Amino acid sequence: MSMTLERQIERLNPPQREAVTAPGQTALVVAGAGSGKTRVLTHRIAWLIEIERAAPQEILAVTFTNKAAAEMRERIGELLHMSPRGLWVGTFHGIAHRLLRAHWREAGLPETFQILDSDDQQRLIKRLLRELGDDTTKPAAVASFINARKDEGQRARHIDTQGFADRERLAELYRRYEAACERGGMVDFGELLLRSNELWVQQPALRDHYRRRFRHILVDEFQDTNTLQYAWLRNLAGSETSLFAVGDDDQSIYGWRGAKVENMREFERQFPDVKVIRLEQNYRSTGTILSAANALIANNRERLGKNLWSDAGSGEPIRLYAAYNEQDEARFVVEQIEAWAAAGNPRAEVAILYRSNAQSRAFEEQLMARRIRYRVYGGQRFFDRAEIRDALAYLRLVANPNDDTAFERVVNQPPRGIGDKTLETLRDEARAGGLSLWAVLTRLLEGGGLPGRAASALGGFAKLIGELRAAGNGQPLMDQVTVAVEASGLKTHYAKDPDGRGEGRVENLDELVNAASLFVNEDEELDPLTAFLSHAALEAGDAQGEAGADCVQLMTLHSAKGLEFRQVFLVGVEEGLFPSQRSIEEPARLEEERRLAYVGITRARERLFVSYAESRRIHGETRPAMASRFIEEIPAEHLTEVRLRGTVDRPVSARQAGGFGRDAYGDGGFGGRGYGNGGYGNRSASRGNNDFARPAAAPPKRESAWATPAKVAEGAGGLEVGQRVRHGKFGEGVIVDFEGQGPRTRVQVKFASAGSKWLMLDMAGLTPA
Ligand code: ATP
Ligand code: MG
Repeated sequence: MSMTLERQIERLNPPQREAVTAPGQTALVVAGAGSGKTRVLTHRIAWLIEIERAAPQEILAVTFTNKAAAEMRERIGELLHMSPRGLWVGTFHGIAHRLLRAHWREAGLPETFQILDSDDQQRLIKRLLRELGDDTTKPAAVASFINARKDEGQRARHIDTQGFADRERLAELYRRYEAACERGGMVDFGELLLRSNELWVQQPALRDHYRRRFRHILVDEFQDTNTLQYAWLRNLAGSETSLFAVGDDDQSIYGWRGAKVENMREFERQFPDVKVIRLEQNYRSTGTILSAANALIANNRERLGKNLWSDAGSGEPIRLYAAYNEQDEARFVVEQIEAWAAAGNPRAEVAILYRSNAQSRAFEEQLMARRIRYRVYGGQRFFDRAEIRDALAYLRLVANPNDDTAFERVVNQPPRGIGDKTLETLRDEARAGGLSLWAVLTRLLEGGGLPGRAASALGGFAKLIGELRAAGNGQPLMDQVTVAVEASGLKTHYAKDPDGRGEGRVENLDELVNAASLFVNEDEELDPLTAFLSHAALEAGDAQGEAGADCVQLMTLHSAKGLEFRQVFLVGVEEGLFPSQRSIEEPARLEEERRLAYVGITRARERLFVSYAESRRIHGETRPAMASRFIEEIPAEHLTEVRLRGTVDRPVSARQAGGFGRDAYGDGGFGGRGYGNGGYGNRSASRGNNDFARPAAAPPKRESAWATPAKVAEGAGGLEVGQRVRHGKFGEGVIVDFEGQGPRTRVQVKFASAGSKWLMLDMAGLTPA
């Protein structure tokens, strides 16, 4: 890419160009998916630096995920033919973290403060509940209460309990939680931002310093900012700051986590001279995909209202696949991907998008079985594995021995004979004295106030941490990590295979050492260990597949925001899953689910598959499922039903006329028996007992094959439609259809010489040809 920036800007459409070069103080770009909002934002940064001669240090760009931040940095680098130093591009969390590291003293934190991720947070809350003798309150509920309060900018002391006992209780827990974090020098995700906002409020001199520095603030995905993030931005933006925000109200998908789409309207109100720019041309998707998305989102009432068009041509129809169950769905998807890759297309241009993380497993199994490389974003992260958490806890204690969460985790891991009673003594003393567990431990050891066995076990632990700290001093990060993994006894412990997965766990520990050796500390002011630990807590740390390798991409719809792929599989599009069960009764939540569907559809550039399963095993239970209302909201003319390999796709409109419902369920019509008329409940009732056999009344039409493809294929000993087979009497032929189930499965074969025959599968004696 050696085009000059001017040329690049000329290639934008007029409103895009206007946004990139907007001279005023504040601008808001409101535009639909794929209209070039992010592109405008990166071009504007390049334009500010190269044409307006802004120093990179004067620019702050905020986006939603680490992946988006990395891409943004890369784009800017390409536009300028160099990566500008001093430019701040990051997530709200990442930027707040950086500020707190630089100003820990002003923020009232220890220099080595550690980040508490959501798992640590829940453990800490569990401990607090235990202290209170409360075994009924769910730690997760407390965590979400605290996080929601923080997102609103509230500390425990701000909570108005209005005399309600349960609120009183939660506020009390929040108070204790705050105290525990304070004692241990621990900061959770919400706290990063809350504290850095308090910096602005409580340290005006510091705030003014940053106001002078960041003359340009640019925000992507503005529709998903929460109250605290917006306050943070408002505080940082002074009268001289130019604030540039881009967003799409139709893609607001974090309302459940406190995002306020109203911030877009607020923005217009609070900055009266704001220039509002609308972009209407979509450059990402085919006309078909775009029409489907537009039609779907038109069902929402709460909208600013936008138009999107494309001149890309209509492209292929959207393919709809009705799977028998989640395994069949996964198999179908992976077969499609195999064909895609076999045709020479990059796997990295394929995304499988699902509503919840638990859905990835079926796809992972199929991908693994077929040796297709893939990468899961935001599933179980590498840094979340038990053995890795153990090792990190040792390192955290090296960095900051007052970190009680880390202390609790490894004081007896690997087991060194420290009993519960001893630990209770430590906890009691810590509580009474307002001290960290480590402080109590050293005091007790010095004062000799412990019985012999406890003293020697705890003494061993204290000595170990002391040695690790001494060994780490000034050593390269990789050596520090090696020592923590080995001297702690963790590696030997896991190698002994305590849970039958020893080998893998030891490999993971080695991988941690490896990660440390490759770690680049971008913040020179931070010591490498602290930087590495923060990285482990903050980065999405995606486990499988190396970055940059040609892997199929698996992620939730939420994490797909802002991304694009040539081929997208939107899977599990079923009532009760997507939209989620909880959202079905609540109009506001349902609209948010629909926006999520809109986000999903608009990720696709060329080809989109939508699939659902007729039965799904979820949380260990098999349940009947049915196509989501979102599928119905896509106009039928854009959809084509996919049948098993080797058969002809048929348009959905034909299907509906011919009775989709009849094929699948044996009665009624697809549309007619849906949720609209209360049929949903009825149907689940009538299909209870996990009995998926087609009702006896089902006419044995041959179209029925596609309704239960997996079953048939499974019962067919690996035979599939389209496959060439040999028959003892009729010779060679091709399977064209199946019907029925289990021992009554019939197969239709078109023989080269004998014509088409229906045979009982069990007795036909077919062999692959
Ligand atoms: P989303 O709402 O999903 O975040 P967006 O509005 O940020 O989408 P971009 O990701 O910036 O959209 O752009 C979508 C695609 O269209 C990208 O591949 C981008 O490079 C391309 N694109 C945008 N504007 C133009 C243009 N003027 N000419 C050619 N391609 C463009
Ligand atoms: Mg974008």
